Amino acid sequence: MKKEKILVICAHNDDQIIGCGGTFAKYVREGKIVKTIVFAYGEKSHPHYKPQIIQKQRVREAIESDKILKGKGIKFLGLKDAQFEKEIKEKNIKELIFDLIKKEKPNKIFTHSNDDFHPDHNSVYKLMKEMISEKKITCNVYTFDVWNIIKLKKRDLPKLVVDISDTYKTKSEALKVHKSQYNLPGIIGLRFRMFIHALINGLNHGYKYAEVFYKIK
Ligand SMILES: [Zn+2]
Repeated sequence: MKKEKILVICAHNDDQIIGCGGTFAKYVREGKIVKTIVFAYGEKSHPHYKPQIIQKQRVREAIESDKILKGKGIKFLGLKDAQFEKEIKEKNIKELIFDLIKKEKPNKIFTHSNDDFHPDHNSVYKLMKEMISEKKITCNVYTFDVWNIIKLKKRDLPKLVVDISDTYKTKSEALKVHKSQYNLPGIIGLRFRMFIHALINGLNHGYKYAEVFYKIK
């Protein structure tokens, strides 16, 4: 039987961990193939460093975290932070992703949510949505669960709940690798929020830890 294949399509190289790291690790344990497509290098997070240095470091961190999750590789599209909308058009990203999808033939795609107010995350969501309506994406597509006050948009969307009790540790380990991020103020807050998020999703669904997704296709 052919192995199930999953594509995670996200803006930055830690979004796949925060959004679906536990599910990612769990699917790999179940023998599925998981690959990641990352839009940007995230060099904007360090305004005082040269972008190239940050790029190299973040690529290294991404490869290391992919090893921890036992993913089958990360493809970087190299877009500039905060310029996604423009660069998606200029660099013909839609066709590029369409070609990748035709090649990989994923059974499932995980990506950003419409509830995500981060402009880069939202640009990725919009592109996915466009590709779905143009039938360039025909497999199931799930969006990450995002914490914000207004959750009305996804009220009617079918939910996918994944028990990540056995793989939460791996998710946490994979995030720790991101040292260029790790040293920034706020990262402790990020790890703590990720923990609380998994805990509350777990409590709500009868698991120790869980990740929740909303099906948009
Ligand atoms: Zn991001």
